[in-house]
Amino acid sequence: MLPKPPPLPASSRLQLEKSLRTQLPSAPELVLVTDLDGTLLEGNPRWRRRFYRWLATRQDTVLHVFNTGRDLASIARVLEQEAPMGLGAPHLVIGDVGCTVACGVSLAPIPHVIEPIERRWQGQAERVLPLLKAIPGLSAQPVSAVRRLAYLIDPEILDTTHLEAVEAMGVDCLVSGDKYLDVLPAGVNKGTTLMDLIRWLEVPSETVVTAGDSLNDLAMFRTGFQGVMVGNAEPALVEAFPTLQRTYRARAHGCEGIVEGLRHFGFASLLASHF
Ligand SMILES: [Mg+2]
Repeated sequence: MLPKPPPLPASSRLQLEKSLRTQLPSAPELVLVTDLDGTLLEGNPRWRRRFYRWLATRQDTVLHVFNTGRDLASIARVLEQEAPMGLGAPHLVIGDVGCTVACGVSLAPIPHVIEPIERRWQGQAERVLPLLKAIPGLSAQPVSAVRRLAYLIDPEILDTTHLEAVEAMGVDCLVSGDKYLDVLPAGVNKGTTLMDLIRWLEVPSETVVTAGDSLNDLAMFRTGFQGVMVGNAEPALVEAFPTLQRTYRARAHGCEGIVEGLRHFGFASLLASHF
């Protein structure tokens, strides 16, 4: 069980806005929280272009949040690479599988939101590294992961029961796509950090829709916010679908799946001009 989150300062949203280089919609009709790989970056190019154009024209009514396993440097690269497709910066970014929160435009981390995560991670890397080094089938990922450790997995070699000993030291081990292992501060993931951010934003939870495709998105779907599991979701995530309360399983892939889900949740009028 997680401890009850500490109370936020009065006018938390105002405080949050002070550390941003972008203006947030004052009363967003939709807070759209999208994973990147396999979700916002997926789908046929025609649909992606259309969807990115829609996001650009809706900046004053749709508050867009990336929620990804990528670190900030890698998010910056995605924004640069996808600019010709029309993908613009979101308002906010959750990166490092929930361990980083930043302004979507400057990509500068937001200190007061990150601080409790930082506290949970203090000293943990030093504690668990020797144990992780001794586990066959893990190789450190060449990313500048902060407040977490990132590994590539050789599924043929890795015996996942070894990870229980790592978790017993007070961290969470998250395997996704049979390819990646993230070692995270205990109780921190894409879902908990999103819930925290929504509290800071002081927006009604009915306006929130999440979208994702892989196992590290499960925590996001378990928040109880409306969620869209895109058609190309990985099998391990699809397996969990029957246990999820407010998640819609789209048929379409990537961006087209997000649009399908938004219609399902009653946001058709917001889409009307473009879809
Ligand atoms: Mg993904």
